[in-house]
Amino acid sequence: MLTDSSSKLLLSLLRDVPDFPKPGIVFKDITPLLANPTAVQAVVSDIVNHFRHQQIGAVAAVEARGFIFGAMIAQGLNVPFVPVRKAGKLPFQKITEEYSLEYGKAAIEMHTDAIPKGCRVLIHDDVLATGGTATAAGNLVKKLDAIVVGYSFIINLSFLPGEKVLQDNFGINPHYLITV
Ligand code: AMP
Repeated sequence: MLTDSSSKLLLSLLRDVPDFPKPGIVFKDITPLLANPTAVQAVVSDIVNHFRHQQIGAVAAVEARGFIFGAMIAQGLNVPFVPVRKAGKLPFQKITEEYSLEYGKAAIEMHTDAIPKGCRVLIHDDVLATGGTATAAGNLVKKLDAIVVGYSFIINLSFLPGEKVLQDNFGINPHYLITV
């Protein structure tokens, strides 16, 4: 759990950008947070502490903003970091999953040798919105016969169904620091 002062600091560092990337979308911009090492440390510590005793074997994070904290969380848990990339970016043999976004459609990919069978995987991204991206990432993990044991996000958009989607699809209550 974040302390009250860390929560306040974090909230003050999340910038709402209206009508980006499309009219009607309020974009949650984490760049002010990234500029504050104290807040970054608080976020990473919270997530690492939450998952420390869950025998996580790898952290998979979604391009691009998920990579930033995902890599730090993997380092904090002392486990491999697995990049989940937009279609066409990974150079080696890969598996693909299509999904719907809050704004549009897309596909994500993972290397076939990214995660060993039976590995217990934590999936991380910056924002949980409809849950489509997180579900697609979880499906990639399952395709490799590994196990999705947790989801972590900085921000949950509670007016969208992401949390319920992950509960329904994976039986997991996602961990997040801020809900709006
Ligand atoms: P979704 O698949 O709908 O849960 O959307 C999650 C993905 O889209 C994450 O990778 C987020 O970075 C991004 N995203 C969706 N909605 C927003 C938002 N309002 N602000 C910032 N990023 C968002």
